[in-house]
Parts: sequence; C-alpha cells; structure tokens
Amino acid sequence: MALNIVVGIKYVPNTTNVNIDPKTGTLVREGVPSVVNPHDLVAVEFALELKDRYGGKVTALSMAPPQARAGLEHVLGMGVDEAILVSDRKFAGADTLATSYVLAKAIEKIGDYDLVVMGHETIDSSTAHIGAQVASWLNLPYIYYVTGLEYRDGYFYVTRELEDRVERYKLSKPSLIAIKMHSRIPRHVRLEYKLRAVLDSPIKVWSNDDLGLDPNCIGLRGSPTVVSKVEFTPKVPRKNIVFEGDIRESVQKLIKALLEEGVL
Ligand SMILES: Cc1cc2nc3c(=O)[nH]c(=O)nc-3n(C[C@H](O)[C@H](O)[C@H](O)COP(=O)(O)OP(=O)(O)OC[C@H]3O[C@@H](n4cnc5c(N)ncnc54)[C@H](O)[C@@H]3O)c2cc1C
Repeated sequence: MALNIVVGIKYVPNTTNVNIDPKTGTLVREGVPSVVNPHDLVAVEFALELKDRYGGKVTALSMAPPQARAGLEHVLGMGVDEAILVSDRKFAGADTLATSYVLAKAIEKIGDYDLVVMGHETIDSSTAHIGAQVASWLNLPYIYYVTGLEYRDGYFYVTRELEDRVERYKLSKPSLIAIKMHSRIPRHVRLEYKLRAVLDSPIKVWSNDDLGLDPNCIGLRGSPTVVSKVEFTPKVPRKNIVFEGDIRESVQKLIKALLEEGVL
C-alpha cells in the first residue's frame, strides 16, 4: 500500500528582485537570492501528506546548478526522505524540452516510483510545460490543477478543481500530477530534519556520466526554443505614497486614493 513518490523541485530567483540583461535578454541570476519555487513547496506538502496517510518514501528531484542544494536541504527539512540533484554544465541552456527529457531520464533511473508530483508552474519561467512533457516522455497519465488524491485498490482517485467545476479521475500507477497552488499550506522546516539534511547530506548528485544521455538531446544543443528578442523589460512603477497622521483619516485618504486609481 506504501507509495514511492518523486517530487520535482525548482530553485528559482526570488522574482521581486530579478532583472533582465538588456543585451542577452536572459534573467540575471547572479547575486539574486533564490527560493524553492512556491508551487513546489505546495507539491512537497501534498506528497508528504500522502506519505503520512499511506506510508512510503518521498524523493525530491531537481535539475539545477550546485547552489540548488540549499533548496533541496529546505525540502529535506520539511520531511522529504532523500533528494537527487541532477547537475552538469552539459545541461546548461536547456529549454523546457531538454529539461523535461533530463528529468524524465532521472525518474527512469530512480526506477521504483508510483507517483510523480510537480507544481503547476514556476514563478520565474512559468511555462507550465514540464509536468506535461515529463509525463509524455515517460508515457504516464497526467492531470494538473490537482487538489486531492485517494489511493485505493492500486489506483489513484484524483480531484481536479477548475474555475467552474470539479472533476474526478481514476489513474493507474504510475502517474504524474501537478498540484494546484494554494490547495495546501506547506509545513514548516523542522530543525532535526534540517540538521540531518545538512550534516548527513542525503543529497545524491547525478551528472550526465550517471545518466548517459546523448549530448544532442540535452542542454543548449537539445533545445529547439530560441529567444530571438526581448522587446521590453516590464517595469512596475510605484508611487510610494505614505499616508501619515491620524489612523482614521489615513484610512479614509487611502480609500479615496484607491477609488481614484480605479482599484476599488
Ligand atoms: C532557450 C532557453 C534557454 C534556457 N536556458 C536556461 C539556463 O541556462 N538555465 C536555466 O536555469 N534555465 C534556462 N531556461 C529556462 C528553463 O528551460 C526552464 O526554467 C525549465 O525548463 C523549466 O520551465 P519552467 O520554469 O517554465 O517550469 P514549469 O513547466 O512552469 O514548471 C512546472 C513544474 O515542473 C517542475 N520543474 C520545473 N523545472 C524543474 C527542474 N529544473 N527540476 C525539477 N523540477 C522542475 C516543478 O515541479 C514545477 O513546479 C531556458 C529556457 C529557454 C527557452
């Protein structure tokens, strides 16, 4: 009855601080603090709740540069059992196709899995491609916007919430699901788990020597997507208006200003 679950984790730049290089049109990642993609924290919570209910093991998987160890240590601190960092300079420059290919091959190497859980999208690239593409490489059933799952008689009974309806699916094992953001509140990191993550280092690092993938299918060479031009860097102008003094008067002024802006 126990479930072996793999969760996809991306360590992303904290987007409120991100800039775009005007020359290359790519994200400036250097010196930008990173966090575990918030959608993936919800996916980890979902997976850990399944482990709490049915037993088994949760493995976090990330394709990323070495600094993503900190993100994997965070989810190990939440209670994930083990983590795999797929990391190699040969994977650099990967678009979603090449990324999903490497992730699918890493999941194949993990081998003994019942369910793959992902976030619906990331807060940096935000394509929502990866779940569908990994499922496609592995020929797995795939459902996104998942909010609930019951495991009975060897099948997954999955609930998916869309804007106007709730749908239910019966999936065979193994399957891949992407979790709807805000359907769970991620649990806190526990000190004992975090210490184990840092001191015992249960993070395996796999390079392409471990996966043995064709160089034409990975990294820049395996990526058919070309960002030809970035037209503009979005700017969010802030007015920085501060209402001071008596709290009642300030709130009235705030409401008036928001009405004038058409926000209320
Ligand atoms: C031409 C091109 C070049 C690029 N070069 C680079 C580069 O050099 N370095 C770089 O970091 N990015 C690069 N990217 C971006 C990179 O392709 C995407 O960030 C990556 O494929 C994931 O897509 P996404 O963030 O839209 O994920 P989504 O599809 O929005 O994510 C859905 C879910 O998939 C899972 N997931 C996504 N990415 C990963 C991952 N890496 N590991 C584990 N699980 C994951 C998570 O659970 C996530 O919630 C490039 C993109 C393009 C188009």
